[in-house]
Amino acid sequence: MTAPAMTLGIPAEPGQPVTGMCWLWCGGTAVPVWWAGHVRIGAAAAGLWACQGCLQHLARMVRAADDAAERARRLAT
Ligand SMILES: [Zn+2]
Repeated sequence: MTAPAMTLGIPAEPGQPVTGMCWLWCGGTAVPVWWAGHVRIGAAAAGLWACQGCLQHLARMVRAADDAAERARRLAT
């Protein structure tokens, strides 16, 4: 089985939170969550909401992956 294709966009300036379920790692079900973007997996799409701590963790992961990709590009040139 192959991993589903997933796209995710995070707004540069998060809007106002709502109380709801965090879709990421913490398991919070009634916490302040911010709109994190659209997620599409195959033909299904939904809005992703996440708490501040999980969004910060996600941002660190994205920056680390981007830094690694940049280092790989520099080594290849
Ligand atoms: Zn969370």
